[in-house]
Amino acid sequence: MKIWNQYLLPKTIDTAMSLLLEHEGYARLIAGGTDLLLDIQQGRHDPIDTLIDITHIPELQQITIEEDQILLGSAVTHSTILENQDLQENTRCLVQACSGIGGSQVRNVATIGGNVAHALPAGDGSIALLALNAEARIISKDGERWELMENLFTGPGIPSFDPCKELLACFRFSIPKRNERTAFHRVMRPQGVAIAILNMAIWMQEADEGIVENIRIAVGPAGPVPFRARQTEDFLRGHQLKEDVIAQASEILRAEAKLRTSRHRATKEYRKHLLGYLLKTVMSK
Ligand SMILES: Cc1cc2nc3c(=O)[nH]c(=O)nc-3n(C[C@H](O)[C@H](O)[C@H](O)COP(=O)(O)OP(=O)(O)OC[C@H]3O[C@@H](n4cnc5c(N)ncnc54)[C@H](O)[C@@H]3O)c2cc1C
Repeated sequence: MKIWNQYLLPKTIDTAMSLLLEHEGYARLIAGGTDLLLDIQQGRHDPIDTLIDITHIPELQQITIEEDQILLGSAVTHSTILENQDLQENTRCLVQACSGIGGSQVRNVATIGGNVAHALPAGDGSIALLALNAEARIISKDGERWELMENLFTGPGIPSFDPCKELLACFRFSIPKRNERTAFHRVMRPQGVAIAILNMAIWMQEADEGIVENIRIAVGPAGPVPFRARQTEDFLRGHQLKEDVIAQASEILRAEAKLRTSRHRATKEYRKHLLGYLLKTVMSK
């Protein structure tokens, strides 16, 4: 089976955008290819005439700090995220999320941008970036814009931007302060190397005596797109993190999450049960 006709390797964002527009309708961006090529090989996606590989564009490979924010290039691989000291020190949820993706061969080529652009409701990187309230820089022929992570998805596998016409360049998110922390945890099938049965990431701001000042909880898959548990967050604000509070929060989370039974992973009931376990785990990490 022929997967593509031509494979292009631009060195700048401008060239990648020109190529994308020049071949509009029959071209697609590719990064590590760990989602896209498998989708084509396994018949979930038609073969593509022109693949435009963005992994040779230095700007998309950068991880930088600007004032109180981290900028993370879309073509940064999961392995690079794990090795980066700034991310290790500041964004545990992202490092924990990327550390579980595939095996090291996958992590060495698969990118954070590809994980988000693939738009699965339980993409591990997407869930961590959602908890971090990240924004994504999207470049199109009309210019560029910053989109909040929570506006970046319209359905399972469908990003709100068009990967045939638009390029996701990087993410930015605030560096957590001293009273803020993040965590990620997931449950996989024992033999599983792909998507989680359920995953969860939090960002939490704590006041004295373990009182939750502010919190963001991201869960996947708990709906058609990566899910923010707003009602649970509202309940937890102002509460002290005690066992009975987490138990009450778990009930609210079970009510607001839109879980379903999946043939390949788990029943809705099992996922409901796991929500409480995951919440307790990320809160205590
Ligand atoms: C064995 C195996 C195990 C895996 N395990 C996990 C796991 O545990 N958790 C998990 O979440 N995922 C997992 N994955 C899925 C996959 O590895 C990740 O989603 C990965 O991050 C995708 O990145 P990529 O660079 O390979 O994307 P690609 O396959 O190159 O691209 C994916 C999609 O994104 C688009 N795209 C890529 N980059 C951009 C960009 N910069 N701008 C616009 N569009 C873009 C492409 O056009 C394509 O539609 C696994 C995959 C395999 C094969």
